[in-house]
Amino acid sequence: MKKVRVRYAPSPTGHLHIGNARTALFNYLFAKHYNGDFVLRIEDTDIERNVEGGEESQLYYLHWLGIDPDESPQNPKPQYAPYRQMERLDLYHEIANQLLKKGFAYKCFCTPEELEEDYKKQTEAGIASTRYNRKCLHLSPQEVQEKEAAGLPYTIRCRVPDHKTYQFDDLIRGHVSFESKDIGDWVLMKANGIPTYNFAVVIDDHSMEISHVLRGEEHLSNTPKQLMLYEMLGWEAPKFGHMTLIVNEQHKKLSKRDNSILQYMSQYKELGYLPQAMFNFMALLGWSPPGEQEIFTKEQLIEIFDEGRLSKSPSMFDKGKLAWVNNRYLREMSLPDLTKLCYPYLAKAYDLKDKSEDWLNTLVSLYQEQLSCGSELVGLAEQFFKPFHVEEEAMEVLTWETTPIVVKAFLKRAEAVLEWNTDEVRKILKETMNDSGIKGKPLYMGIRVAASGYQHGPDLASTLVLLGKDEVLERLNKAI
Ligand code: GLU
Repeated sequence: MKKVRVRYAPSPTGHLHIGNARTALFNYLFAKHYNGDFVLRIEDTDIERNVEGGEESQLYYLHWLGIDPDESPQNPKPQYAPYRQMERLDLYHEIANQLLKKGFAYKCFCTPEELEEDYKKQTEAGIASTRYNRKCLHLSPQEVQEKEAAGLPYTIRCRVPDHKTYQFDDLIRGHVSFESKDIGDWVLMKANGIPTYNFAVVIDDHSMEISHVLRGEEHLSNTPKQLMLYEMLGWEAPKFGHMTLIVNEQHKKLSKRDNSILQYMSQYKELGYLPQAMFNFMALLGWSPPGEQEIFTKEQLIEIFDEGRLSKSPSMFDKGKLAWVNNRYLREMSLPDLTKLCYPYLAKAYDLKDKSEDWLNTLVSLYQEQLSCGSELVGLAEQFFKPFHVEEEAMEVLTWETTPIVVKAFLKRAEAVLEWNTDEVRKILKETMNDSGIKGKPLYMGIRVAASGYQHGPDLASTLVLLGKDEVLERLNKAI
């Protein structure tokens, strides 16, 4: 079997998007599963859309996810380099000339205005899929020469063969076929001498010896165009697999403008999601493992990856599931590591000047079970940082007739203790129960609200310890 070589070929038009990240991830898993190569190629021919730093950003977030290419512009293999399309223009020109010579392509001098005019006419005549009218196909060699000599700009078009069927077995969708009559003579080379995506991609995939092309479903209709070039050039085509769409919770195709879902890796990193969790989550976005288990390390995923289990139906981006997966990973973290993850968020929101490392570790430990991302701690733990105030809905607890009784009883015990740790505080809570004869909700809620101002929070004894003895006593006295 030929060596597996796959590629991820982003355009450097922005940060790493969830859709692209997933494409990269499945290519990576596929490559690693078969001991193949995972190649990163930069498709930068859409020069107006390229953004400064786009390539670095792609690489940075791929690396963050743990997806490191075997070959890339930064790590080239001489026989395949260069890895940026704009550095490969000579090659595209050479192949375009070959196609011209063999009559598989022709020069088209139609101006954008003429083309638009003609497409308009076709639309008005009720033709649904408008296509190039082949005017320039019929130019004589002499006419072509004259136009060129006059310096008229031209594109190079592929002359789409008549009456042909292009078919292939898609790794995901099975047998797919397209008729050449549905495809107009398309542009290989633009007038500015830059190739179109469909042209460059074939030359690159061939010359980089790509064995499998796994990409998004939006490229399915490009595949017959690419297949026709493989055939014209006498090259063996790679195997294709088109992954289904990612949809939102309303089952609509994820659009970059959809603000209900964060779509860029940078956003998840900023919020304190873990790269391993993102990797795991994305692997389940359009692929399913055989059993019930859903949490896997990268190594396990490489081991069990099977392209036959890539989904045929759209995969829903489930935010709740992502939170769940990330929570599983946060739970497994060591406390110092989790504190390190959460620290910058807390430091940005609150004054941590007199909080010790121990105090912070204890705080984080109280929320470790429930935390779904690092930044979430800021909101969850606000009662430990904000100036004391009683929540609107907690006010009522202070009017219960049991509240002053339990608060007084607790105060009396608390004032007498020397140590202020959870064991000790638990003990005096029990004593308060015996002293006052009040237990359960009236006991715990009364003390909690009087001391913290909040109805809910982590374990009461731990809450009181974290708030500190002096602070608690002062607040309880005030409550009375
Ligand atoms: N540059 C293309 C994209 O970002 C790559 C498509 C392909 O994998 O063939 O969509």
